[in-house]
Amino acid sequence: MKYEVVIGLEIHAQLKTESKIFCGCSTRFGASPNAQTCPVCLGMPGVLPVVNKKAVEYAMKAGIATNCRIVRDNRFARKNYFYPDLPMGYQITQFELPIAVEGYLDVPLSDGSLKRVGITRIHMENDAGKSSHDPYRPVSFVDLNRAGTPLIEIVSEPDMRSAEEAGAFMRQMHTLLQFMNVCDGNMEEGSLRCDANVSLRLKGAKEFGTRTEMKNLNSFRNIERAIHSEIRRQADILDDGGVIVQETRLWNADEGKSVSMRSKEDAHDYRYFPDPDLLPIIIDDEFYNRVKDSLPELPEAKKDRYMKVMGLSAADAAVLTSSPEIAAYFENCLTLMNKPKTVANWIMGSVLALVNVKGLSIAQSPVPEKALTELLELVESAVISGTMAKTVFEAMAETGKPARVIVDEKGLAQVSDTSEIEGIVDKILADNPKEVGEYRGGKTKLMGFFVGQIMRASKGKANPALVNDILVKKLEG
Ligand code: ADP
Ligand code: MG
Ligand code: ZN
Repeated sequence: MKYEVVIGLEIHAQLKTESKIFCGCSTRFGASPNAQTCPVCLGMPGVLPVVNKKAVEYAMKAGIATNCRIVRDNRFARKNYFYPDLPMGYQITQFELPIAVEGYLDVPLSDGSLKRVGITRIHMENDAGKSSHDPYRPVSFVDLNRAGTPLIEIVSEPDMRSAEEAGAFMRQMHTLLQFMNVCDGNMEEGSLRCDANVSLRLKGAKEFGTRTEMKNLNSFRNIERAIHSEIRRQADILDDGGVIVQETRLWNADEGKSVSMRSKEDAHDYRYFPDPDLLPIIIDDEFYNRVKDSLPELPEAKKDRYMKVMGLSAADAAVLTSSPEIAAYFENCLTLMNKPKTVANWIMGSVLALVNVKGLSIAQSPVPEKALTELLELVESAVISGTMAKTVFEAMAETGKPARVIVDEKGLAQVSDTSEIEGIVDKILADNPKEVGEYRGGKTKLMGFFVGQIMRASKGKANPALVNDILVKKLEG
């Protein structure tokens, strides 16, 4: 392709506060329509909004974690437009003085490199309600439960150069917001959503091309698909000598294509002005430091620690820090059994496979931390072999019983009694005189054959290390 792709994302994240941003109504999802409303979020005349301090705190956390400068004197503004799900006739958002500006995020790409994407700004605003339209009658409904839910909008610089980079940026942001516990990250329910701005320019050109904005991207896959589709659409137009119209487009995931929604409005169309009902938000050092100090260890730092202190591979560390639940599961295991590599292998190999098949989060794993480490202790103390442990793990997942109980019930304990193993070894050697002769004649590869026979005779229960010792002694002694 002769064009270079330019992408900037606008990400909306619903903050996980219990109440709305300017009133005390609950933000819980799934209540009956309009049950969670009051005069403030219904936009009645004469009411006064009051800022939710938690929302400010969460927005600051997002700003600090994305290396932004926190604007110590930031303000709310009114963005005026009419829509049935916006009863006030304006959205309360931030315009000239947003809470955070000039940050960046280092995004890991699939080739192992890091891509730095600039964050232009993060601002706070309220969400709108939800309209629905009756397909059989000429009626529409408005549910204002969501009206007034706190959002942050994270605006990136136009720094991404492919759909994959945009997808990776969104994934990184998703992980980061969840680690900070400021957003639940549920893209299907719309708690995290993004608009993608896409333009093309001839390779080497200095000026950006005209951009379009794609809305309604509610999964990582759809972000990438929609961008790919938009790149093709724009390239076709440009190839034919056409011009790109600056517009907002709506992605239709079922049909795999977008349609034009409206020509792009400019900021001045909204008649922004400072909201006279809300005081400026002044963030003093004490508040700033308290929020900064309350940030948990972030995924990149965690990943580094897993690699440098625990000696895990980059790939393993990336999986273990891909969600706060997985990292918590891993670290909980380590408090019970401090063997990072063993625990990591089991999480990656067995636990994640199990929860993925069942469609559960690792926090709901049928084999929780304590159960897993109890199983691994049995391997460490040679009660069962590593191979046997896989069988026991499956039984634990199915029955919920502790490892020890399954081992006892099924009689799976490893035989570490020397005389018992010696008996089996003697029998196998006596049954296979020809192979014994060949071994002693130099065909040492037959070792594997003997071990196999012995393990089979013991139904997999003979302690492999002891089998080896005894076998070598008998064959060579
Ligand atoms: P608006 O709020 O009107 O959409 P902004 O200036 O805030 O406008 O930009 C929105 C997004 O568009 C930002 O993420 C920015 O990086 C991105 N963007 C701006 N210009 C371009 C362009 N030419 N191509 C692709 N993305 C762009
Ligand atoms: Mg926009
Ligand atoms: Zn309310």
